[in-house]
Amino acid sequence: MGTLGVLGLELVQMDTPPTTAYLQIYTEERCKANCLFCAQAKDSRAGLTHIARGMYIPADLDAVVSRLKMAYEKGYLRRACIQTALYDKWWEDTVYLIKSIREKSDIPVSLSVFPLGDERYEELCRLGVNEIVIPLDACTPGLFDKIKGKSAGGPYAWERHLDGIKRAARFFESVGTHLIIGLGETDEDAVKIIDELHGYNVNTALFSYTYVPGAQLVLETNKEESIRHYRTVQMARYLILEGIVAYLDMRFTDGALCDFGAQRDVILRLIEDGTAFQTSGCPECNRPMANETFSMMYNFPRKLNDKEIASVKKELGLG
Ligand code: SF4
Repeated sequence: MGTLGVLGLELVQMDTPPTTAYLQIYTEERCKANCLFCAQAKDSRAGLTHIARGMYIPADLDAVVSRLKMAYEKGYLRRACIQTALYDKWWEDTVYLIKSIREKSDIPVSLSVFPLGDERYEELCRLGVNEIVIPLDACTPGLFDKIKGKSAGGPYAWERHLDGIKRAARFFESVGTHLIIGLGETDEDAVKIIDELHGYNVNTALFSYTYVPGAQLVLETNKEESIRHYRTVQMARYLILEGIVAYLDMRFTDGALCDFGAQRDVILRLIEDGTAFQTSGCPECNRPMANETFSMMYNFPRKLNDKEIASVKKELGLG
């Protein structure tokens, strides 16, 4: 909806507009996979126009593509992110959309997709996809199986996803993954996999678990613990990706992080800078309100103000 607002195809009042165009390929078929948190999943009863909190309203493809060109040239949008579900014609539709964008514009394109074979990776590179993102979503093999693998009635497997991520790194300069924080993992589970993926040069983007009405996964969340956990993982991710500290330097008690492995003043300086708590992922991706409400900001889609920095300090027990 925010993308349609920036493209001038819907009237949308926005606090912070998206800097990336989020393009979900629309189909009335449900996805053949069954990720329990997802509105599009085969056994979900949620509306097809939702993914997490984001609303995806079908729009005319030619209008979107030509306005995308204008919005990129004027500097309103700096990236296009394509996401697709697993349905019969997903490959043909994805290639068609990429080609349509590339015929008109040089806007950087990210594609978020399940693991593919080498020939398809090669073809996507040739078509001009700049970043590929293969969402692991869960932080451990057990959670993966339960939430989007065999136990969830889905086709995916942890090892195949990891293999797909590692193979993609041979074709694309930039490879990423998404993790949903709040599915039952500990701080340590999340930090460990972020560190491992960083070792393969994979950029991890963080999302928070969001209940979508009608989706299959309904988790009880404790607001205070959920934000402490999220902020801890954001900070640890930032320390790892910036090369300041590695997983092995951090200390955990029963899975809960008790020491970031850096001096207190370093952590305080990073909190005051705030970048660690802004939306993570591909360059220029800010995903405003993808998981957030105005009273609960997990990923800040812009720089934090002083009040927000003070809240983050408290949430991390340093305020
Ligand atoms: S990090 Fe942002 S731009 Fe990149 S694939 Fe994820 S949602 Fe899209």
